[in-house]
Amino acid sequence: MALLEVDDLHVSFGTPDGVVRAVRGVSFSVDRGRTLGIVGESGSGKSVATQTIVGLTRGARVSGRATLDGEDLLGADVAALQRIRGAKIGMIFQDPLSSLHPYYKVGWQIVEMIRAHERGTSKAAARKRAIELLDAVRIPSPKIRIDNYPHEFSGGMRQRVMIAMAMALRPSVLVADEPTTALDVTVQAQVLDVMRDVQRDFGTAIVLITHDLGVVADMADDVVVMYGGQVMERAAKRDLFYRHHHPYTEGLLRSLPTAGNAGMLVPIAGTPPSLLSPPPGCPFAPRCTYAFDRCSERPPPAEIPGGGAHTSACWLPVERADRQRAVAS
Ligand code: SF4
Repeated sequence: MALLEVDDLHVSFGTPDGVVRAVRGVSFSVDRGRTLGIVGESGSGKSVATQTIVGLTRGARVSGRATLDGEDLLGADVAALQRIRGAKIGMIFQDPLSSLHPYYKVGWQIVEMIRAHERGTSKAAARKRAIELLDAVRIPSPKIRIDNYPHEFSGGMRQRVMIAMAMALRPSVLVADEPTTALDVTVQAQVLDVMRDVQRDFGTAIVLITHDLGVVADMADDVVVMYGGQVMERAAKRDLFYRHHHPYTEGLLRSLPTAGNAGMLVPIAGTPPSLLSPPPGCPFAPRCTYAFDRCSERPPPAEIPGGGAHTSACWLPVERADRQRAVAS
């Protein structure tokens, strides 16, 4: 059994316009010391899926299974989820200012978090650990910076403070939701380096949610591609980049700037499906250049196109040479 396992997760929300089916049958897993990249555009359900497993989607209708080290997450009560958040699953988000309180020094915030979860820890011991954590995420002069307020840090440094805070209780999983989206490229690389350090030092499993395949290429061991609340393709990183099967993955890769395609980026035409009334067949069908009759009639099963853990929810044959025949038939 993997450290974190999510199986057939469904999440929906009641709204004045109807029921939004944000996540529909999503499964993934990640093990200690590994990084799972969950990639997809806005509204693909990637953040809702991970927020649900840590109890951050109150009011949502949820079904499926999610376990951390064998412990049930979806059936956990509020107190258990509060214990799990921070102590077992650390989280960082795109905007550290939404998680760091502007009125309190960063050191105080880290110390309070440690002491809230570990009641026997003295202030002095928690402060010492906070300094070590700031040092581990490469905050210069941590003994001085521990007494700074969040606004006294740059964007990249604030994100590193967030990583320190998320790791304060040595969680086994770090969920990072678009952690570098608001940062420029150089600072982004520094923050990703810090995440790698943390993983190496603590054996942490990382779930990295991003719309950026470049970040996935840099960080992930395995990748889940989401679209319209569903998993389109799941594969080891190398397979995803070099042996992908799903047309949506193909579209994402063609819209990724590389040294070889400067000036020839191909955007995916069209818009994502409404999650109020998702299409009955493949959710990508209205935008897919390969779509044929069956695609809009029945949802494709997530089958194994190449063996192993590689799956793709697409009716197309595995062999690319057979694709045109399938489309024309
Ligand atoms: Fe395209 Fe059909 Fe595959 Fe969906 S199932 S991605 S519409 S070919």
